[in-house]
Amino acid sequence: MLIKERTKSVRIKKLEVMQRRIIRHHPRYLSIEDELSGRLAGHFGEQSNDYFLKPFREFSVLHDLRLTAHESYFQIDTLLLSPRYLLNLEVKYITGTLVFDHLNQVIRLKDDGTEEAFKNPIFQVKRQQSHLIEWMARNRIPPIPVRSLVVMSNTRTIIQAPPSSKDVPQYITHSPYLQERIKIIDKIYSVEKLNKREFGKLSKMLVQHHTPENPDLLKRYQIEEKDIIKGVYCTECFYMPVVRQYRTWICPKCSHKAHDLHLPTLEDYALLYGTTITNKQFCDFLQVSSRHVATRLLSDMNLKQTGSGKGRVYHLPEPQ
Ligand SMILES: [Zn+2]
Repeated sequence: MLIKERTKSVRIKKLEVMQRRIIRHHPRYLSIEDELSGRLAGHFGEQSNDYFLKPFREFSVLHDLRLTAHESYFQIDTLLLSPRYLLNLEVKYITGTLVFDHLNQVIRLKDDGTEEAFKNPIFQVKRQQSHLIEWMARNRIPPIPVRSLVVMSNTRTIIQAPPSSKDVPQYITHSPYLQERIKIIDKIYSVEKLNKREFGKLSKMLVQHHTPENPDLLKRYQIEEKDIIKGVYCTECFYMPVVRQYRTWICPKCSHKAHDLHLPTLEDYALLYGTTITNKQFCDFLQVSSRHVATRLLSDMNLKQTGSGKGRVYHLPEPQ
C-alpha cells in the first residue's frame, strides 16, 4: 500500500522556476541548470525504480521522507514498512563506473574517461539507518530491525570493489535484482515485531513528522530581484509575458488562451518569494496595470486574507 507518494521536491520546483525566470546571461544561470538536470535525473531514477516495488503489496511504502535528527534532518528516498522489519532504499542514478577501494573511498569514472571523488553511498545509508533507529526510539516505537540497500537505477552503472569487500555485495544492488534481494531479506525477518496498533502508529507518525525542505535558493545563487523576468507565462510554450485582453490571457507567441493562466504564475511567485502577496506585488510580478483587475483575480481565488486596504495580504497555497 502506498501511503506517501513521490512528487517533485520543492527544491526541483524552485530550480525549474529559476531556470524559466532568470535572465540568461546571469553568471549563475549555468550552475542552476546543472543542479536542476542532476536532480531531475535523480527524480526520474527513483520513479523508474518504483516499478520494481510493485509486486510487494504487503509493504507500506513511503517516498521522500525528511525527518528530524537532533538539530538537523535526514532524508529517505523510499521506506518499505512491514510489522517484521523496515527496508530503507537509497536510489542512485549514476552514469559510468563506481570504484570502491579498500579504504572505502569511492571514485566515479565517467564515460569520457575523467574521474571524480564520490560520496560513499554505503556510509550514507548506514547513517540514514542509524538516524531512523534513533528517531523510532525517541518516538517510543518498539525496536524493529532496519535494513538498507543502495539501488542503482541505471542498469548500465558498473560497480567495482576489491574481492574482500563485504559491504558492497551486502548493500548495493541494481534495480532489476531488487525483487530478489527483498525476497532474501524477507525470509530472514519472519517474526512480527510490531502489533497492528504499533504498526499503524509508526506509519502515521512518519507521515505526520515529515518536514518538506524549503531551501532559500535565491540567496544561495545570489539572485536579485532585477535578475528575475516578470509576467504571466504561457503553459503551452513558456513565452513571457502573456497579455491580458477582454478578461482572458492570450499568448502573443502561440495564441494559447485561458482565463486562469495567472494561477501557475502565482505558484512561481510562491516558490520564489513565499506565500504572502499584496495587490501591489501581484500587479508588479504579473505585470498587470490595473489594481482593480488584480483585486478581482485575487478575490476569485478565495484565498485567506489578513489586513485591510493597501495593507491587505493574500495567502497563497504552500508549495508542496
Ligand atoms: Zn504560448
